[in-house]
Amino acid sequence: MNPVIALVGRPNVGKSTLFNRLTRSRDALVADFAGLTRDRKYGEGKVGGKPYIVIDTGGISGDEAGIDMAMAEQSLLAIEEADIVLFMVDGRAGLTAADQMIAQHLRTQGKDAWLIVNKTDGIDPEMAEIDFYEMGMERAPISIAAAHGRNVTNMIQHVLEPFPEEQDEEEHNQIKQKGIRIGIIGRPNVGKSTLVNRILGEDRVVVFDQPGTTRDAIAIPFERDGKEYTLIDTAGIRRRKNITEIAEKFSIIKTLEAVRECNVAVMVIDARTGIVEQDLHLLDFVLQSGRALVVAVNKWDGLDIDVKNKIKEDVDRRLGFVDYADMHFISALHGTGVGHLYKSINSAYDSAMSHWQTNRLTTILEDVVREHQPPISKGRRIKLRYAHQGGKNPPIIVVHGSQTEALPDSYKRYLTNTFRKVLKVKGTPIRFEFRSGE
Ligand code: GDP
Ligand code: GDP
Repeated sequence: MNPVIALVGRPNVGKSTLFNRLTRSRDALVADFAGLTRDRKYGEGKVGGKPYIVIDTGGISGDEAGIDMAMAEQSLLAIEEADIVLFMVDGRAGLTAADQMIAQHLRTQGKDAWLIVNKTDGIDPEMAEIDFYEMGMERAPISIAAAHGRNVTNMIQHVLEPFPEEQDEEEHNQIKQKGIRIGIIGRPNVGKSTLVNRILGEDRVVVFDQPGTTRDAIAIPFERDGKEYTLIDTAGIRRRKNITEIAEKFSIIKTLEAVRECNVAVMVIDARTGIVEQDLHLLDFVLQSGRALVVAVNKWDGLDIDVKNKIKEDVDRRLGFVDYADMHFISALHGTGVGHLYKSINSAYDSAMSHWQTNRLTTILEDVVREHQPPISKGRRIKLRYAHQGGKNPPIIVVHGSQTEALPDSYKRYLTNTFRKVLKVKGTPIRFEFRSGE
């Protein structure tokens, strides 16, 4: 698990500016978390071989009356999740009452934060820092100018010093490569822990000693019917120092980690509350990540038949965008339907890890084109010539031709659907990449 850096500070000190600078270096897998939380923004970056996650918070504002709690809540959540807190202040504006309140709050939280004095372009950084000594932060301040990038890389390298470089792939894989890696995700209280316990407690399941843990995620290998699996258990890993109601809240970081580490995500939905907005965002995130997917509608026990029918209707209507995934109606509490998840997990995994020969893919492509020619663009017909596989989990099919950039979405959908049907791909998205050779 990569270190998590939270940016906190009152509004207007330059948090978003720094966030953008820190996340510019990488495609943000987490960009698609948008909508999962109201005010927090997640991004990824890397400096000197060390990857990290950054959380931008909405900002903590306050006056004589104290911190505006509604606004501060998001920041507090980010602080809870963070390994490193960068407390930003404005070197031009100087120390304010709100800064002091935030400093005091950080102290009561027991988080050791770095004081970052921003906007020190065109002024004497040391003079700017002096103003803030009064807050009595443990560490000396670091001055930067986020808008111009001054001292930003140095500062990040410095705060990341205690954290290891990216594990090399092979070492990492030894932990991860035990059979099918399953990540169980979902909103709080949908029944994830109950499901994990149910899975591991089953008679026919043999749970092995844990061979290793990555820094945070615990990988629990087990065997069922002679097949190997590893459950990526991220629940309760980030130990909370102050257990407050904050601990109950949804952890984006844990979800991110589970999705990243797994081959197949099992998304748990609560039948008692029905499908809510956050479920859709989460599913969309899994879709974007390319991981294979199985949906488990939980708490199916003791529901009236009308309620059941209504939920089934709802699922059909609203989960169409992940219709490649198998749906199960289960009771983690009683164990009903839990065993059936494996069939879907196995087939989703097999699909996600499929290997197809180039000539097979090309033959399918030729049939697709024969059936329906791609349209004409700029007076010439778009040509699709051959296809080969470009990756697994998710499977990527690379299609070569000419003018492929002009291929309409409707044609892409037709192509995807046909390949999916012919290759019998289930439980995983397929990605297409188009290359023009001329
Ligand atoms: P946030 O509310 O804390 O996220 O602050 P923003 O990142 O939106 O920045 C607030 C304002 O400060 C914007 O107008 C930025 O352009 C400006 N700003 C940010 N960083 C710097 C800096 O290093 N130097 C100067 N002079 N202005 C900055
Ligand atoms: P998590 O936050 O997603 O890990 O959810 P938990 O596993 O802690 O479950 C939340 C609550 O839902 C607990 O009170 C569970 O006993 C209850 N629960 C979990 N699964 C089921 C189920 O299948 N049926 C019913 N009726 N309750 C369940």
